[in-house]
Amino acid sequence: MNMRTKKSQPAVRERYALSAQLAGLSCIRCGRTLPLGDYFEGCPACRDEGQPAAVRSEFHQFPTVLGNPDARGMQRYAAWMPYSSWVSLGEGGTPCTPVRRLADEVGVAALHLKNEGMNPSGSHKDRVSCLTVTRALDIGATKIVAASSGNGGASLALYAAAAGIECCIVSTPALSPIHRRAITLAGADLVIAGDSLERWQLVTDMVTQQGWFPATNYLNPPVGSNHFGIEGLKTLAFELVEDLGRDSIDAVLVPTSRGDLLWGLYEGFRQLKATARMETLPRLFAVEPFPRIDRVLHGAAITGVFPGSTTLFSIGGSTVTYQAAEAIRQTGANVVAAACLIDRSAGEADVGVPLVSLVQYKVPAYPSRSSPPRTARMLC
Ligand SMILES: [Zn+2]
Repeated sequence: MNMRTKKSQPAVRERYALSAQLAGLSCIRCGRTLPLGDYFEGCPACRDEGQPAAVRSEFHQFPTVLGNPDARGMQRYAAWMPYSSWVSLGEGGTPCTPVRRLADEVGVAALHLKNEGMNPSGSHKDRVSCLTVTRALDIGATKIVAASSGNGGASLALYAAAAGIECCIVSTPALSPIHRRAITLAGADLVIAGDSLERWQLVTDMVTQQGWFPATNYLNPPVGSNHFGIEGLKTLAFELVEDLGRDSIDAVLVPTSRGDLLWGLYEGFRQLKATARMETLPRLFAVEPFPRIDRVLHGAAITGVFPGSTTLFSIGGSTVTYQAAEAIRQTGANVVAAACLIDRSAGEADVGVPLVSLVQYKVPAYPSRSSPPRTARMLC
């Protein structure tokens, strides 16, 4: 039975308002400042140049305290978010666990797993969905759509149900039965497109012709997901620093396709450094199943198409975003490849974020210019 009737609406909508600390937005590529608003296609000037780029939030000032001791989970960092309250299902506050034997095996000083599977819908996407549906509610949207390979769709469907707005997830035939069930049980409509590029065309039509609020990219070449939602991923960086201590993280391995997670982590660490809460940015290594960002960092056009096949559907796709490459450049990191070992063993299973990173580090599939040092304290 569905959790809600598809057309149902709450009797009284909760009201949400942007934080008074939010000053405006700026483009992460050209630096132009932009008034507060919705930029579903990123910076208009960069889009018109055929180089889509995300926008970031600019704040009047950052809070003096990192985490509110009286709040739990992601709510601890509400003062750093574009909305100081949001549609919440208890996201964030996930465990960060040391894995000592594996650290010894791969020869690093310490290795931790951040278990984002403990979020309400089972992935880090909940940190994004909570703010994205809140933005949709704030501007009066009644229906929200996302292109998703699984985790993001399951997450958005759940949060849309909590917010009482209609939801449609556009996916591909590779969608796992687990995610298919999670999306439909939450009451969302599910549309299966031929491939990931066709997904974006379907979402484009829904957004531009039918007025749906887009939670994810629909451009090709792509831009990041909803910029208000991406702010939620900063809380991962905040939790890591609070859990492990300032300047205790040398490198983070980040499973990557369009780079939302990579960029959100970078923004979080960047803001911690800007407020003197850390000296040096951890290097953010993108983990990808076949060379895409790697090729861009070696000179290929970022707007190119980089086909490849993998059973790691959560980090599949053939395109690269500016935000993904920029986060790697800004932290002096690089790209590493998800191992074929996990490809063979994954089968129908949903491959979680930590698992992909871990196996990659054990079995790099192609050499990178800047490998994580053996003395590093890794975090996956
Ligand atoms: Zn721009």
